[in-house]
Amino acid sequence: MGRRKIPRVAPPMPLELPSATMRSMVELAMERIVRHVETLSSQPMHAVAGGKKLVRVLREPMPELGTPYERLVRLLFGRVIPASMNSASPGYLAYVPGGGLFHAAVADLIADATNRYVGMWQAAPGLVQLEQNVIDWFAAMLGLPKTAGGLLTSGGSIATLTALVTARHEKLPPEFQRGVLYVSDQVHHAITKSALFAGFLRERIRVVPSDETHRLRLDLLEAAIAADRAAGLLPFCVVGSAGTVNTGAVDDLGALAALATREGLWFHVDAAYGGFFALTERGRAALAGIERADSVVVDPHKGLFLPYGTGCLLVRERHRLERAHAVRAPYLPAKQVDDDTVDFCDLGPELSRDNRGLRVWLPLKMHGAATFRAALDEKLDLAAYAYGALSRLPGVEVGDPPTLSLFTWRLRPEGLEGEALDVKNRRLLSAINQRQRVLLTGTTLATGFHVRLCVLSFRTHREHIERALEDIRAEVQAHLG
Ligand SMILES: *Cc1c(COP(=O)(O)O)cnc(C)c1O
Repeated sequence: MGRRKIPRVAPPMPLELPSATMRSMVELAMERIVRHVETLSSQPMHAVAGGKKLVRVLREPMPELGTPYERLVRLLFGRVIPASMNSASPGYLAYVPGGGLFHAAVADLIADATNRYVGMWQAAPGLVQLEQNVIDWFAAMLGLPKTAGGLLTSGGSIATLTALVTARHEKLPPEFQRGVLYVSDQVHHAITKSALFAGFLRERIRVVPSDETHRLRLDLLEAAIAADRAAGLLPFCVVGSAGTVNTGAVDDLGALAALATREGLWFHVDAAYGGFFALTERGRAALAGIERADSVVVDPHKGLFLPYGTGCLLVRERHRLERAHAVRAPYLPAKQVDDDTVDFCDLGPELSRDNRGLRVWLPLKMHGAATFRAALDEKLDLAAYAYGALSRLPGVEVGDPPTLSLFTWRLRPEGLEGEALDVKNRRLLSAINQRQRVLLTGTTLATGFHVRLCVLSFRTHREHIERALEDIRAEVQAHLG
């Protein structure tokens, strides 16, 4: 396509755009988006090398005059967006893959262009109910009772913070500094960060060792609780992981729930990665016990393939969430009191918030849960398939078999140990990624550095796993020598 000359400065334009302009803006964006999405799998997996240079090009003072839209779109798709990790690519098997369902982008366009306020029921009862539907669907999916409630958040981190503040409010006196939170040594750092934000001292976050399959050790948890009580501290909450980010391990949620009940603790489950596998039969079996949680965090921007910025908190008793967060103000309308209605601003820290409900509701309504279940089942199959293939590869040592769609592995050449082994595996990982067809990341476990492989994008299918295996085999071969 020839580069048409576009003027540098746009003629002045009213903020209320003429309808023809609205249409052409969306059309131009659409043309670039479709081209982008259609070529995702042939784009490089990571192109962030020139990041510093790009920053210098982009940095500028607030412009006094406007720039033509076309020029800006060209800048975005030509220079800014390509300089990134291709986290929407089918080859992205790093961290916990995101999604980016196009439906959600359309829902956001509708939500943003109509700009309704969904913090309070009375401002947009229908839109609030659509978000509430999504909350009810997720609660039912996890087996939580009818009393459950919750809200969509920007992500798992804010959802976790909201959960821990609720637990603190329910279980501890106003002077809560003696409260102790129990997590496993495999817990996501978002939990630690949330606990610190919620006002707990680092030494009140008790890190309990995990077993050889990376599941929280219940015997050590019980001992830690007893020791803390004996020391005059106040155990109040235990966090179970429904899929750790390190190895994909799922704690024994049923046993944790029983222990939490026995000890009078709040039982929080971090299902940010694994939660939506509850849609599948295998996932439901792996997550058994999650239905007994006091609070659960799930991340639709992971397991439901939505764009970043979509998290969710579910609390067993909605009124507890409300008790911890509702604050009255004389300039706000009267709050809803009946169970049929909800003011989301009373359930979390945000007053104004984006209309997140639509971006979850639209794809679920368009496809039905069955499509998502099948896609998640496919991810379970793909992870099992990749694990099987790697376990047969000479020189490779695989970690725990995947409970969900994530596992670790590493190169294990004869006679190589410790730091030298870690260095070897870091080099291997980097060489695989240099091929630009897949992106993997690593993590350090008690036994050293491991490569991870996590399948969660709706775009990742068998052919992409074969591609990943091809690149892994080639580099394993090269690095064994
Ligand atoms: C992603 C993740 C989080 C944090 O959630 P964000 O949405 O990134 O804020 C917490 N726990 C686990 C297990 C995760 O995978």
